[in-house]
Amino acid sequence: MKYTVSLIRCPDYEREKVYQAVDRALSLIRAEEIIKPGYKVFLKINLLSATPPEKAITTHPEVVGALIRYFRQKKCEVWVGDACSTGDMGGEFAKKVDPFKVTGIKEAVEREGGVIKNFNTEGYEKLKAENLPLKEIYFAKPTLEADVVVSVPKMKTHELTYITGAVKNFFGCIPARERNILHREGDTVKFSRYVLELFRASPCHLSLMDGIVGMEGEGPARGNPRDIGVILASRNAHALDTIATLIMNFPPQDIPALKMAQEAGEIDFQDIEVLGEELKSCILYDFEKPSTYRSAWKRRMIKILAPLGVPFLNTYPAVKKEMCEKCGLCKKRCPVGAIILSPYPVVDYKKCIRCFTCIEICPTSAFYPLRTRFTRLLQKIR
Ligand code: SF4
Ligand code: SF4
Repeated sequence: MKYTVSLIRCPDYEREKVYQAVDRALSLIRAEEIIKPGYKVFLKINLLSATPPEKAITTHPEVVGALIRYFRQKKCEVWVGDACSTGDMGGEFAKKVDPFKVTGIKEAVEREGGVIKNFNTEGYEKLKAENLPLKEIYFAKPTLEADVVVSVPKMKTHELTYITGAVKNFFGCIPARERNILHREGDTVKFSRYVLELFRASPCHLSLMDGIVGMEGEGPARGNPRDIGVILASRNAHALDTIATLIMNFPPQDIPALKMAQEAGEIDFQDIEVLGEELKSCILYDFEKPSTYRSAWKRRMIKILAPLGVPFLNTYPAVKKEMCEKCGLCKKRCPVGAIILSPYPVVDYKKCIRCFTCIEICPTSAFYPLRTRFTRLLQKIR
């Protein structure tokens, strides 16, 4: 087998259990071969929003703590970082909270002797990237300055890319302004291609996924926490995402970024060896997919019907006023200026490109995907 993924059971976030699972997952893929004493190891976590760990939106602090301990025992310096989407665009809500503190990451980093690297203060460096609708890209400095980069995602669904894992995690390495531009340009397939190109531009030596409690339904921010009970690790981020995809009961070929990676020869779905737990015993056959999910054949059907002007095929963003804090973040982050505040957000559906950024970044989950009867019916058909 060409690619290897370790899959280890871990029922909850009890500190010692998590450490044992992380240690075993990394030993099985022989992670120690790629580190040396004195190396700077950067853990790229998922810090999507300033929310407590039990919401299952961000990488759990116990997983981060266990990784810091693992690499510190190997005499490495450990950095932990990301840039929170609700924390880097201003707004009253963002001013009130420190995302590293609220998510429990700060406490875990201080306890285990790591160093926090907040991209908003560390800054970005120009990098060459191909096939993107941007002349140049700026990439988070800690990712480029470390000797070893570890992607540490949460196992979650995603309303635009369907799953978010080790590869999508690197989308957070570019500034919010550029993230906005790529969102503006992309439907599911186009946006997945940009995610893949950004991953290709960045170093990634290892991936370890927090799948102890993941998120199903309307991920990555509004879904429901789901007990999954696993930790996965791999030296190949696509291999890790493929196994995570299977656990979440999606066919990997239906996930555009994975399909493109397979077509480019960066992964072979048939050539992945799973070490540790038996994969079949971990698959969640009742895992709830996002309402925006379309299998490859449904996407083809929509593409054929779309030019005929069939609006009921789509899912649209809508607002629950009673949950809205009028912070204005959605207006700021909408890449096409489709939102006005009056005083609550109002969406101009003629301008809206259904990128779902508003849904992803709303700190109070006031934005949600509104489905027509037809899209609900479509979702029921496999
Ligand atoms: S919907 Fe309301 S709470 Fe959510 S981002 Fe927009 S203004 Fe802020
Ligand atoms: S309204 Fe929301 S879904 Fe529509 S373009 Fe703006 S951010 Fe994207």
